[in-house]
Parts: sequence; structure tokens; C-alpha cells
Amino acid sequence: MELSRDLDVRRAYARDVSGLELVPDAVARPTSADEIIDLVRAAIADHTTLTAAGSQTSTTGASITGEGALVSMRAMTRIIDIDTVERVARVEPGITVGALNQELASASLRFAPDPTSEHDATIGGAIACNASGARSLRYGPTRAHVRAVRVVNGDGNAVALRRPGLEKNTVGYYAAQDPVDWIVGSEGTLGIVVEAELALVRMPDHEIGLAIPFPDERSALRFVVHAREHADGDALTRPQCLEFFDCGSLAIARADVGSLRWMNGAAALVYLEQALDADQPVAESLDRWLASAQAFGARADDIEVFGDAPALRAARKFRHAVPAHMNERGSARRPFGGRKVSTDWAVPYRRLADALEAARRAADGQKIEPPITYGHAGNGHPHQNFIAADAEELWRINGLIEETIRAVLRLGGTAAAEHGLGKLKRPWLRAQLSPVQIELMLALKRALDPLGLFAPGNVL
Ligand SMILES: Cc1cc2nc3c(=O)[nH]c(=O)nc-3n(C[C@H](O)[C@H](O)[C@H](O)COP(=O)(O)OP(=O)(O)OC[C@H]3O[C@@H](n4cnc5c(N)ncnc54)[C@H](O)[C@@H]3O)c2cc1C
Repeated sequence: MELSRDLDVRRAYARDVSGLELVPDAVARPTSADEIIDLVRAAIADHTTLTAAGSQTSTTGASITGEGALVSMRAMTRIIDIDTVERVARVEPGITVGALNQELASASLRFAPDPTSEHDATIGGAIACNASGARSLRYGPTRAHVRAVRVVNGDGNAVALRRPGLEKNTVGYYAAQDPVDWIVGSEGTLGIVVEAELALVRMPDHEIGLAIPFPDERSALRFVVHAREHADGDALTRPQCLEFFDCGSLAIARADVGSLRWMNGAAALVYLEQALDADQPVAESLDRWLASAQAFGARADDIEVFGDAPALRAARKFRHAVPAHMNERGSARRPFGGRKVSTDWAVPYRRLADALEAARRAADGQKIEPPITYGHAGNGHPHQNFIAADAEELWRINGLIEETIRAVLRLGGTAAAEHGLGKLKRPWLRAQLSPVQIELMLALKRALDPLGLFAPGNVL
């Protein structure tokens, strides 16, 4: 297949959402697995490298490269097969999560992971980053939903990797038992995914959303812990997502809703969704949620219920308005060397209030506009968005985030919960994993990609 070396084409693939710009030496736009095999074999012969890219929504520079060819997977969008009885879909990696779910809706099925970027993010990108979303509280991240992958590896062969599907297994070290787990979250460094077999979930009969305003952040976060702990108990109060909005993000959501009176007077908001089967009483579930929210100091009169599919879409729209608004503000600062800076750290959910307090302490004394904080509080995983006005402020914000992440790691947390390390967050690998763990990763890299063909500069 032809590689394009046209500068305009190369520039068109030189940016993702990280703010970095890396112009590849060439761009390939394969339409089949066979073309990818040819590409890899040519790269072996030419001693060059290949970086796969989906929709390039990576926030960490993982989907751009300044060396070798960028392999755009966006032309490989076929749904190969949907088995509605076994609840399995086989797809090419370039289809987006949103497009797949649109196709599955008529069979009342869905691919459960729901990254906020679902209408852009490809299945290949979601697998490579182990993407997650609001519903990951109930269903877990992408890893749990990948049954098998076909990958073109570093010797130019397509290999089919399938989970063993065993409930008991004592053969070999755990890290070696399931090769699908090597690929999920490998950020393009172990090969190019050319096909995936995905487990689907049945859409619940009812889904309701509740936007619950609180007079202060502490009460909201205490409610999140309480609600999360119910997730393992009573089926009528088992949230499928538990999202938090601080005062700043609530103001953005309010502007999106278009009513200044919406949640007026609240200093924080919790948005949760409850899924119910046909035989489970919606009214009773609602009553229980309203009572427990009130017990944690929620402003009961202002709680808003989203009771059907269009209302839930509207609720997700105000949730998605927050990063979209911050992206716009960040873009406006690019000519001055500034941009949006977003954190992706997470802690065990009970430690979230402590982590946010540590973040606040790190920010104290710095003359930086406080971040807006929102996101997957039920998983102990907020996003903090800063706007750096210029390059100098960007440098100071990065210092402040470093300090916060050190505190997060002391609290048992992680530097990157859903966006991966890519190129920008790569230094955190050594802060978080032991030398033995890193040696294990390097051994796997050497075994699957001995020539170092794939995604140079990502992760390792
Ligand atoms: C507004 C916004 C909201 C977001 N919200 C979320 C969120 O809620 N949850 C979340 O997890 N992430 C989120 N992200 C991050 C990003 O959207 C996800 O990581 C997404 O899964 C990336 O998909 P993509 O198709 O854009 O992949 P890309 O950005 O193109 O690539 C990401 C990585 O995948 C690799 N890759 C892509 N395709 C393949 C393939 N076929 N084989 C091997 N490797 C491949 C690339 O090499 C790269 O390492 C968000 C990003 C934005 C901009």
C-alpha cells in the first residue's frame, strides 16, 4: 500500500488533544489487515517505525509521532458480526464506540464502556488505552469487555489472542496466563489491533438519572462514598455511575442547561444513574435515593430526575459540556503558549476527599486560577482542569500537578486512571511501578516487538 509523504497530509495527523505537535515521516491509511501485515513487513525491511492512531483524541501524545509512519486506522470501520444471542460483536478497530452502540441499540445491547469521547474514540483506541467512562462504576473499564483480539505483531504476522475463558487455572504465572490483557492498555506499543471480539451487555429496562445538589463539597463526597458502598448491596440503590461536579464545573453545566436558576445556591452536584429491570419498582428506587441524599444534606427540593432516554441524553450533554467548555478556553490560550491541562489521577474512592484536599494545599500560595473538578467520583477518579494563560503559567501548573500526583501516590492512587501515559505522562511509570514490574514490561515488549517497531516513545 502507498504511504503518503505529502507534508499537508502528514500535518493533518500531527496533533492529538495533548497540545503536542509531532509530524510523522509518512502516513498510511490501510483498509484491511493484509495491508497492515504488508506495512509491518516493509517497516522491518526499512528499519522504520509505526504508530497506530484511531481518532487521535489521546490527551497524552500517544497517537502522534515524529518518527516513522503514522498508521491511521480510521478506514477500518466494519462490523464483521453481531451475535445477539451470545452477546458478542466482532469489529474492525476503526469503528467508533458511539457508532457501534448506535448499531447495537435496536437489539437492546451495548458495548458498556462509555468514554466521554465515545462519538470520536475508536474501538482500537479504547482497547489500546483501556478506556473507561461514567458507567465503568458498574461495568468496569474496556478490559473487562474484550474477549479476543487479532494483532499484527513485530514479526509481521497476525496472531489471534483469546481469553482462556477458565474459571480456575494454576498453570504459569498470572501475568502470563491471558495474552489479551497484554494488549489492552498497551497504547500501541505491542502491535496493531486489526480485529476485536467484544462482549456486549443487555440494555437495562429502565435507566433513571438524578442530579443531586449539595450545599458543600464535603457533603457531596460523603454521599458518594455512601452510594458507592450500596453499589454492592441493594439492587434498587446500586448506581451505574456516580459523577461529581464542584462549584466551577456546576457553573459550566448550569450555563449549558441555559437556566441561571438551575441548581442555584448549590456548591456541588452529584449525578447518578440507576438501572432497573422491568420487575423492579422505579418509584421505590427513586424514593430510596431521595431519602439517602437528603440524609447527607442534599437540597431535596432541587433534585432533578431524568426519567427517560431523551432526558438522560440531556443529562449527559450537561456533563459533557464541562470538558468541551474547558477545551475551548484552553484553545484560546494556545497563541500565548498556554492551554488546558487536565489531570487523570485517581485514588481509592474513600480517599477522594483527602486527595482533593492535598490538591488544594498544593495550589495554595500559587497565583493560579483554581482548577475545575468533576468526574467519576464513584471510582475515586476526578478530572481537574486548569487553564494555563501562557507558557510560564503552564510550567507552574505542571509543577503543581506533580506535587498533587506525589500526594495521590502516597494515598495509594495512580497517576493515570483512564487516558494512559502516552508520551506526556511517561515519567510517572517509574514513580509508580517497581524496577521488577518495569523489567517485566520490557521483557514483554522485547518478546512481541523485538525490533521496537511500534509506537516509539509511548509508555516505556
Ligand atoms: C473530550 C475528551 C473526553 C475524553 N474522555 C475520556 C473518558 O471519559 N474516558 C477515557 O478513557 N478516555 C477519554 N478520553 C481520552 C481518549 O478519548 C481515549 O483514550 C480514547 O480511547 C482514544 O481513542 P482514539 O480512537 O482517539 O485513539 P487515539 O487517540 O488515536 O490513540 C490512542 C492510543 O491507542 C493506540 N491505538 C489506536 N488504535 C490502535 C490499534 N488499532 N491498534 C493498536 N493501538 C492503537 C494509539 O497508538 C495510541 O497509543 C477523552 C478525550 C477527549 C478529547
